[in-house]
Amino acid sequence: MAIAPRRHSRQTEIRYGSHSVLVGGGAPVMVQSMTNTDTADAIGTAIQVKDLARAGSEVVRITVNTAEAAAAVPAIREQLDKMGVDVPLVGDFHFNGHKLLTAYPGCAEALSKYRINPGNVGKGSRHEDNFAQMIEVACKYDKPVRIGVNWGSLDQDLSKRMMDENAKLAVPKEADEVLREALIVSAIGSAQRAEELGLPGNRIILSCKVSGVQDLIAVYSELAKRCDYPLHLGLTEAGMGSKGIVASSAALAVLLQQGIGDTIRISLTPEPNGDRTKEVVVAQELLQTMGFRSFSPLVIACPGCGRTTSTVFQTLASDIQAYLRRQMPVWKTQYPGVEEMHVAVMGCVVNGPGESKHANIGISLPGSGESPVAPVYVDGAHSQTLKGERIAEEFQTIVDDYVKTHYGAAVPA
Ligand code: SF4
Repeated sequence: MAIAPRRHSRQTEIRYGSHSVLVGGGAPVMVQSMTNTDTADAIGTAIQVKDLARAGSEVVRITVNTAEAAAAVPAIREQLDKMGVDVPLVGDFHFNGHKLLTAYPGCAEALSKYRINPGNVGKGSRHEDNFAQMIEVACKYDKPVRIGVNWGSLDQDLSKRMMDENAKLAVPKEADEVLREALIVSAIGSAQRAEELGLPGNRIILSCKVSGVQDLIAVYSELAKRCDYPLHLGLTEAGMGSKGIVASSAALAVLLQQGIGDTIRISLTPEPNGDRTKEVVVAQELLQTMGFRSFSPLVIACPGCGRTTSTVFQTLASDIQAYLRRQMPVWKTQYPGVEEMHVAVMGCVVNGPGESKHANIGISLPGSGESPVAPVYVDGAHSQTLKGERIAEEFQTIVDDYVKTHYGAAVPA
């Protein structure tokens, strides 16, 4: 697997029970996600956390915005434990985090990490006091902290001061450039302040989220040069559907390829009643298609064209991809290495046999006017030809047999 050189950073550990996730210091880029339930609804939130974790999210963030939400955090943790879900929980704090973390010690203890937005911890002297109060709690419970700065909630005092200083320059910089610099100054300055307050430097992760692709690349490229804290990447407010996926992937791919980024989140806006786990799937697919990590077997499918008017191959590609993902929670423990398997589902003989030969298993379905048979290739060699109504079922059986005989303990020494 091709690995781009990683930026050197310290390493942070996010723990829950005996389970721990390493961030930075050469650890694999970690996938995280965030719930959109009301945290005060402990059962609803626990169920969504479970779904995100089962989809592959390695930590899950929940908002802790009210007394009711803070009070519910231990119950969410307990519910997850009952369901056998040991994913670490991260609490997202804004405005009143200092109060909630001190008034609800059960919440402070049940969380595995705190996200603090220095732009939302109060103004003037209250900013310093509130920030210090949260860092004290993190030190007391030995929790790592993400200092998460956001373009939309940048520290107003800091940005005003920097804009005023810029206005006095003989050649003032563009406002956007000053604001990007303010994000970096806010993140690194807050991290240094946290260290002065006693939080070890290896318990800090930084993020500087913006909503523009080029802005994100510029900010993180600079941030990576100026500090060695692990960096969490994400394009904030990425948007819905293909726009959100493309924008996030474009920005994160450029940075990851340069070795920048130790954890990622794809901030997709779900469709109404849409599946929240999509953001996890996209994050995994980004890392896997770039060759950084493997999570689930990849299905290579042709786009289809006028050479096939049948939708059979589209249905088969979609069904087999869904089937492989469903199997992964069990397969990844029984058949380690299966996540690297490639399956090709092709629409006709033009590229079908060729692409099938490059995959572990490939099938080439008949295009228009072709003989109604589907040759199957295993490890580059033609193994059999399927025909009739049960091609999908028979192909799935071939995939199952391949997994059982090629991965994990079943593989002869
Ligand atoms: S493999 Fe065949 S059906 Fe698929 S895109 Fe190529 S020519 Fe079209």
